[in-house]
Amino acid sequence: METIRVPVIIGDGTGEDIWNASREIFEEAVLRTTSGEKRIEWIPLLAGIKALDAHGTLLPEETVEAIKESRIAIKGPLTTPVGGGFRSVNVYLRQIFDLYVCMRPIKYFDGLPSPLKEPSKVDIIIFRENTEDLYRGIEWKEGTAEAQDVIDFLKHRMGVSISRDSGIGIKPMSRAGTERFSRWVFEWAMKNGRRTVTIVHKGNIMKFTEGAFREWAYEAARSYGDRICTEERTGIGGVFLNDRIADNMFMQIIARPGDYDVLLCPNLNGDYLSDACAALIGGLGVAPGANFGDNVAIFEPTHGSAPKYAGKDMVNPTSFILSGAMLFEHIGLLDTARAVRNAIEETIRAGAVTYDLARQLGGVKPVKCSQFGREVLKKLTPPVL
Ligand code: NAD
Repeated sequence: METIRVPVIIGDGTGEDIWNASREIFEEAVLRTTSGEKRIEWIPLLAGIKALDAHGTLLPEETVEAIKESRIAIKGPLTTPVGGGFRSVNVYLRQIFDLYVCMRPIKYFDGLPSPLKEPSKVDIIIFRENTEDLYRGIEWKEGTAEAQDVIDFLKHRMGVSISRDSGIGIKPMSRAGTERFSRWVFEWAMKNGRRTVTIVHKGNIMKFTEGAFREWAYEAARSYGDRICTEERTGIGGVFLNDRIADNMFMQIIARPGDYDVLLCPNLNGDYLSDACAALIGGLGVAPGANFGDNVAIFEPTHGSAPKYAGKDMVNPTSFILSGAMLFEHIGLLDTARAVRNAIEETIRAGAVTYDLARQLGGVKPVKCSQFGREVLKKLTPPVL
């Protein structure tokens, strides 16, 4: 029997609830779809508040080393207090492993609630650049010497006047960063037979960051010749590349979701769009995610630690379980991934849903997080080949 060692960070808040509901599903899925030839062994790791309490650091070296060695990990949500305290460990993890691609599939299936008339048209993959933009966290607090220095520099050297009581944030977006991200996404889209990639930007206003992102993505596409066509270069087949201004994009995903397939987004646009698109298929409890670099991939749900629900056995573990399915796909266990997805879809179709979906569906009695996990387990059968 082969043992697959998978590092897991259970995380804060509701992390424990969703992990308890998911663990056995993952273990059983691997055993059943490999006829007992493979099994998972978890490597429990700490990060965030739990790590701070236990080791006095948000991200212990041991956690970093274990992920580096395994090249994969699955993680639950980590709490980041707003305005002060510490910076986001989620962002830090993405930066130290250079996980420059964040992937968030948003796909409707029967049984999910949706505010749309035709939700079955929703099958959108959001790709979000993960290491640049305002998310780099280059910021100076209002009133600090650093903020004053930047304000003085802008005034005296650049001729730009900013109110002295401003906080300052810097939005870096590079040609190299955009190119490598765009290429990753183009290649993924071609390999997976997707039809359209849409660049989402606010280049009409932020010309040298968001506007440049758009230009650099088109530039990167040109090197693929016939394999990528654009509005200017039509009729050559391949993946179709177009672009939309971000505010319009938010309208489009609601008004015409069927027109959109793969979205290529800078960090912040992608962040906002991920949650907005999740709302089309039932919300954050359903939307999985993955972060990819050249060496490491970390799988995690789109949602945060939802502290007010922590320990109540209420939240939806679907997003975490589907993130696990993405991990299985990544390591080549395609049948396992399919079996997990099928079991989730069948469970929801059969009407077993947690509070978040039940309240949108109306007239449905919610099941607990743990009960949902047990229902999924019952539906878990190896895919018929
Ligand atoms: P959140 O995603 O934790 O919760 C927002 C709301 O979404 C919740 O109140 C709840 O109604 C719903 N929700 C979230 N997860 C759900 C689930 N599994 N099932 C059903 N409903 C669910 O976002 P927040 O309240 O803005 O952030 C809380 C904390 O999480 C913050 O510290 C934030 O920094 C952190 N966070 C972490 C990550 C991550 O670890 N990748 C992502 C986002 C936010």
